[in-house]
Amino acid sequence: MIRTKIVATLGPASATPQMLARIVAEGVDVVRFNLSHGEHGEHARTLAELRRVVAGQGVHVATLADLAGPKVRIGAIDPQQAHLEVGDACTIVREPIAGTATRFGTTYRGLVDDVRVGERVLIDDGAVRLLVTEHRADELVCTCTVGGLLSTRKGVNVPDSRLALSSLTDKDRADVAWLVEQGFDYAAMSFVRSPDDIRVLRSQLHDRGGDQPIIAKIETPQAVAQLDAILKETDGLLVARGDLGVEMDVARVPLLQKQMVTRARQAGKPVIVATQMLQSMVKAPVPTRAEVSDVANAVLDGADAVMLSAETAVGAYPVEAIAALNRITQEACEYEAGMMDEIGQPRHLLAERFRVACGEDRTISAVARSAALVAHDLGAKLVAAWARTGRTARWISKYRLSAPIAALTTEAGTCRRLALCYGVEPMLVEPAAAVGPTLAARLLEKLVGRFELRGGDVLVVVGDPNAPAAQPTITIQVVPSPQPETQDC
Ligand code: PEP
Repeated sequence: MIRTKIVATLGPASATPQMLARIVAEGVDVVRFNLSHGEHGEHARTLAELRRVVAGQGVHVATLADLAGPKVRIGAIDPQQAHLEVGDACTIVREPIAGTATRFGTTYRGLVDDVRVGERVLIDDGAVRLLVTEHRADELVCTCTVGGLLSTRKGVNVPDSRLALSSLTDKDRADVAWLVEQGFDYAAMSFVRSPDDIRVLRSQLHDRGGDQPIIAKIETPQAVAQLDAILKETDGLLVARGDLGVEMDVARVPLLQKQMVTRARQAGKPVIVATQMLQSMVKAPVPTRAEVSDVANAVLDGADAVMLSAETAVGAYPVEAIAALNRITQEACEYEAGMMDEIGQPRHLLAERFRVACGEDRTISAVARSAALVAHDLGAKLVAAWARTGRTARWISKYRLSAPIAALTTEAGTCRRLALCYGVEPMLVEPAAAVGPTLAARLLEKLVGRFELRGGDVLVVVGDPNAPAAQPTITIQVVPSPQPETQDC
């Protein structure tokens, strides 16, 4: 029941009505629309179909719109692809041209101004590598250091250079207006470089009447260097290992992942680990041993969610990939819970680093910490947290208790957003479901059924929907034992 959540990216392999029904039934928690590809009209039709499927299956699934950001891409290559060999000279030009392997443009005219001699130009996630040897007014002359195929619209990374591109492109601004209009649950921001980038997106969302929580994709060295400041501004993190492994030494990525996951947990914010989690399943029905270990380790690092990209967007086995993720994360979660039992206390409560937050989350994080301790000490089988915005449930989730967290809310949006948080089962309920701070009999009965509770089991109830949010409570409630049947005389 305790689960790491699954984010699946839609694409041609999964955006049909039949596949949407199958991937939702398989247990996906967040569906990602990658706005680097596709048109608004097409995405809107898929979103409407997804909502129909989700409503039909009676589950809570969040939607995440991922903004393309200032990603530079190669312009047209004619014919569609061309080969570059080590030692070949090639020229990157300012203007968009019908390119060849040795002379091509990019989607960013200013690239030729921002990149200097001696800096690297990496193409297609670093599969092809160039070194700039000469800087001319409108061209960069390069030498190929790692050869390979060049094709139209492949990504370009310049890890040694500082691009003068703004954090939100014109396309991103149009996408922000669209994602607000469509009522997406989350907005993900690509190539975040500073906390200011998050503030800019937040104000764009507000200007359009949106309040979507922002997930900052960490994929640049600048973002890694300013992680704590970014965490103060953002609502969640995504460890974008694809671009991160190109922008920085790939050998550092596993360690940066651990660091980012820990920091996000300390900040009480959800964190997604992404990219190539089950990459071989793009073509094969089963994952490799190394992929299985990688997913399990992401769970043990403390990720809220793991993400599939190409596996579900263009792969041959999208449903199988989700099923595999569910099996692997379930095993890892059970192992993690077992380890806690072995040492007698939740590992993460012991850690000094899990202290109460400063600032506006101070009270809520203190209550969550206490609720987690009470739940642990009493061996509670369930934590039921009342949720308006979902902050309390989110903070409790960070303690990775062996008991699940039922997040009880009357808000459909909060319900969907909480689908991202580890161990949280969001539930839409009637406002009258609390009698003071204890749960009313009908709701208790529902929880007993859903979480397989028994008479005598302890529940920790956090909050009270009838009391002001500023006065949080922690209540201990025991599931009543069934009355013994009376015998007729
Ligand atoms: C990544 O780079 O790992 C990532 C998730 O971003 P995108 O899929 O947008 O390239």
